[in-house]
Amino acid sequence: MEYRDIGIRPVVTAQANSTPLGGCTLSEGVVAAMGNAAKCHVNMDELWQAAGDFMAEVTGTEGACPITGAAAGMAISVAACIAGTDALSIQRLPDAGGLPNEIVLQKGHSISYGGAPITQMIALGGGRAVEVGAVNETPASHIAGAITERTAALVYVTSHTHAVHRKGVSLDEMIAVGREHGVPVIVDAAGEEDLRRWPASGADLVIYSGPKALGAPTSGFVCGRADLIAACRAQYHGIARPMKVGKENLLGLLQAIREYTSVTADERAEAQRVRMARLSDRLDRISGLSTRVIRDESGRGIYRVLLTIDPMTAGRNATTLAREMVDGTPSVYLRDFKMHLGQLEVDPRGLTADGEEAVVRRLEELLRGKTS
Ligand SMILES: *Cc1c(COP(=O)(O)O)cnc(C)c1O
Repeated sequence: MEYRDIGIRPVVTAQANSTPLGGCTLSEGVVAAMGNAAKCHVNMDELWQAAGDFMAEVTGTEGACPITGAAAGMAISVAACIAGTDALSIQRLPDAGGLPNEIVLQKGHSISYGGAPITQMIALGGGRAVEVGAVNETPASHIAGAITERTAALVYVTSHTHAVHRKGVSLDEMIAVGREHGVPVIVDAAGEEDLRRWPASGADLVIYSGPKALGAPTSGFVCGRADLIAACRAQYHGIARPMKVGKENLLGLLQAIREYTSVTADERAEAQRVRMARLSDRLDRISGLSTRVIRDESGRGIYRVLLTIDPMTAGRNATTLAREMVDGTPSVYLRDFKMHLGQLEVDPRGLTADGEEAVVRRLEELLRGKTS
C-alpha cells in the first residue's frame, strides 16, 4: 500500500518537522532498525528499561522513560508528579483524589500544539493548570506566589516559536523557585536539538519529541530524576496505557538518537548553512524574490533561506504565494512566521534533497511570466 493508492498528495515541508505533516522522514538505518524490531517478540518491560537506560546515558540523566510524543510526555510527567508510584492513585487518575495537583506555569507558556492545548495534557494527567502573570510578562515572584500546599509541579516550555520568553520567568529562575519550595520542574523541550543542555539545567523532568529534531518515528522520551522517571514508567498501568510506544518505534528512536549524536551540533549547523547558501543563490534568480541566509533568531545553529516577496514583480503577496505553494502538487509548506512582513522562509530541517528541488521548481513555475 502506498499513499497514492488512497489518493494522498505528496507533501514537502520547508517548515521543519511537525506532527501535522507526518513528523520526519526516516534514514535507511532507522527504517532497518524498525523492520528488524518488528520481526520478533520481546519482553516490553525489559525493553522499556533498557531503552530508558540508553537515553539516560545520552542525556546525562538518572533515567528516562519512552513516550509516544511530547504531548503524551506532558500528561505522563504531570501524572508522575501527582501520583508517584502509588498503584491506587495511579489508577484513579485523572481524578487526583485529593492529592496536590496544581501545575503552575506562566501565561506566556500556556501554548497549543497545533490545536491541542498544553493545559489539556496537564488535565489528562490529573493536574489543574494554574496560569500566572500576563501573556507577555511574568515576574518571577508570581511563580513563587502561586505555590501552595496544593502545588504538584512547575512547567516550563523552551520553544521560542510557541512560548513567549521576553519578560518571562527564565528556566534558571523557575528551577530556583522550584528548589526553594521543594516542587519539581517539568521542562517541555519537545523540538530541541540539544540533548544535554536542558537536562543539565537542573530541571527534574525534561520532555523530548522523537520526530522533531532527532529524526525518529512517532515517539519521544522523558528524562531526569530517577524517582520521577520510575513514576513516569508506573503510569503505563494507568493513564499512559493508551499512549504506549511500540517496540518498532522504540528501536527506531534509539537508532535515530545514535545517528543524531554521531554528528556534532557544529557539523550539523555548518552543513545546513552551506546547503541553504546554495539554495538561496538559486532562489534569488527567480523574479519577484530576493533571498538571503539567516540564522535562527533564538541563537540555535539553524540556518534558513529568507525569501522577501516583492508583490509588484511577483504579482502576489507572501500570503497568496504560501497558499499557492500548499495547494499545488506536491503540496509545499514554507515557514510562515514572517508572512505578515511579506517574507517566507525555507527551513532545512525535514527538507529532503527531492523536497528542495520541488521548492525551486514550484516557485519557478508560479513566478515565471509574472515579471514586469
Ligand atoms: C510539537 C510540540 C509538542 C507536541 O509534540 P508531539 O511529539 O507531537 O506530541 C509539545 N510541545 C512543544 C513545544 C512542541 O513544539
